[in-house]
Amino acid sequence: MPDVISLLPESIANQIAAGEVVQRPASVVKELMENAIDAGADNIRVVVKDAGKTLIQVIDNGSGMSETDVRMSLERHATSKIRESDDLFHIKTMGFRGEALASIAAVSKVEVKTKTKGAELGTMIRVEGSEFKKQEAVNCDEGTAITIKNLFYNVPARRKFLKSNPVELKHILEEFTRIALSLPGVAFSFYQNDMETYHLPPGKLSYRIINLFNKNYQEQLAACQEETPLLKISGYVGKPDYAKKTRGEQYIFVNRRYIKSNYLNHAVIQAYEGLIPGGTYPFYVLFLEIDPVHVDINVHPTKTEIKFDDERSVYGLVQAAVKKALAAYNFTPSIDFESNVNFDPFAFHKQGGQPKNLTSASSQQHNSSFKKHNPAPQDWQELYKAFENTAPAHNTKEETYTLRFESDIHNISENTGEKEDKTQYQNTFQLHKKYIITQVKSGLMLIDQHAAHERILYERYINAETNSKNASQQNLFTEIVELNAADYHLLKEIENEIKELGFSFSFYSNNTIGIDGMPAEIKAANPKELFEGLLEQFKSNKAHLQVPVKENLVRSLAKKAALTAGLALSIEEMNAIIEQLLSCSVPNYTPDGKSVILMLDLEKIDAYFSTGKIG
Ligand code: ADP
Ligand code: MG
Repeated sequence: MPDVISLLPESIANQIAAGEVVQRPASVVKELMENAIDAGADNIRVVVKDAGKTLIQVIDNGSGMSETDVRMSLERHATSKIRESDDLFHIKTMGFRGEALASIAAVSKVEVKTKTKGAELGTMIRVEGSEFKKQEAVNCDEGTAITIKNLFYNVPARRKFLKSNPVELKHILEEFTRIALSLPGVAFSFYQNDMETYHLPPGKLSYRIINLFNKNYQEQLAACQEETPLLKISGYVGKPDYAKKTRGEQYIFVNRRYIKSNYLNHAVIQAYEGLIPGGTYPFYVLFLEIDPVHVDINVHPTKTEIKFDDERSVYGLVQAAVKKALAAYNFTPSIDFESNVNFDPFAFHKQGGQPKNLTSASSQQHNSSFKKHNPAPQDWQELYKAFENTAPAHNTKEETYTLRFESDIHNISENTGEKEDKTQYQNTFQLHKKYIITQVKSGLMLIDQHAAHERILYERYINAETNSKNASQQNLFTEIVELNAADYHLLKEIENEIKELGFSFSFYSNNTIGIDGMPAEIKAANPKELFEGLLEQFKSNKAHLQVPVKENLVRSLAKKAALTAGLALSIEEMNAIIEQLLSCSVPNYTPDGKSVILMLDLEKIDAYFSTGKIG
């Protein structure tokens, strides 16, 4: 093999953001692993002792280095990876500065054993604190084994500032995890004080995730896949139910390189809006592939930050792809209902951005039909009939990005507008006045009646709200409500928004208000109680949710006005709820992320009765 390393011209060296490569043991692990990958290895072993403070070893089966190259590799700006300044914009390898090994060698005792493919003999070189000690021919395996001993032995100040072993080890494992995730086709293993703590055979990404994290991650993953001329997105996003209270399992890779980007994380988290409670974080591993010309990797020396020339499009595409992945998962129960369900979640995409049933005309019509019908609280079927064909409030933000999602992942059959076959729901009943149980094609569906109604109302208000003001319905009597001073003041602040929902009230003196109208669809037995509950809920949401006033109000109202557990429902009422729920854009969750539906697949039930275990 010819010598391949040359020194970077000074000008390019300067072009490259300078930076401290070696901050802690984890940085060494990262640089060495990246070098192994760049060398084409498909088996990489990482060994650390004392959290990397006494020993870090990375052993690969990659290209190896020639005698000269290995000597050069330990000098600053020696790299085989770029030669021209233009190359900086077409970086496909992990390393490109040629300063990692030199920096590491300056602050530790390094030994490299390496042999190129097919060579008779390998070479061993030893450098301590940048000082060349020894080089000789040795017998060794093909590939490279680099050993770093006593990091910062000659820089006591740095060594002193290393954190405790558990902390340093955590940083090391973070780097290890990122790299192992980015290359599921490469075998990795991790040894900690002679114990193998990770053994990662090559395989698919899902397999890698399970091996790295936990076996039960398998059921948490929703596949995410999207391709546009600008960007290819693939990977997995965690189902909303599994979101955690702590951050740390969010991974975005651009061209296989792990990056930190608040901007892109925001795009992903936004896609979960309404699906997970505030202050929780979903799992995700997303790979973005983009032509390097659209990327400037060199904004930060540690290479984890990135800039795109068209940030907005990337943001929009990532968000849309995640939404699509979650929607595909969310809609799963719907495929159990055959074509009689008036429901086609993907109509939105098919029709170039307009949900097919959603027009402001139709929703206004519903509002007015409510006024006319003015159904008694027990007339649930009436209530729902009037809303039949109301499509969910799709997030109109999506329209900005005209993505074309070709395939209906689950083959949800097109709504043909056939007459509904009510026999479908004959096997529906209520459990303990709390849950609706119904037979579906794949097994059994359990619905929390309160949660379901909360979701239905939420989408209805959001929907109505975006089209026009909610209709108000006059109370027979003005209801006088005495508030405390703080609530009275708060109400003044949100007066407009609350009136837009359909409430009508006036401020009197002495912190008193008179309520004389309610949103038309609300069937509250006690308007005063509802109003006070709404304010309470609004305040509690405000304390832990970062959402606009209107969103908060709609959520609060949906929660407070939703029918509760303990209310007996007729078959028709239950069926109306099922239908309304399944035409929501996000039927599986309440706006604050609680589950609405539990599916029990026939397969799982069968499995239970044959093996005694579910699933
Ligand atoms: P960079 O990766 O930025 O080029 P490094 O200092 O990390 O700089 O490495 C310097 C050079 O040493 C690399 O360009 C590469 O040619 C060689 N090298 C380092 N590690 C390995 C390895 N594990 N296998 C083969 N070559 C390596
Ligand atoms: Mg490198």
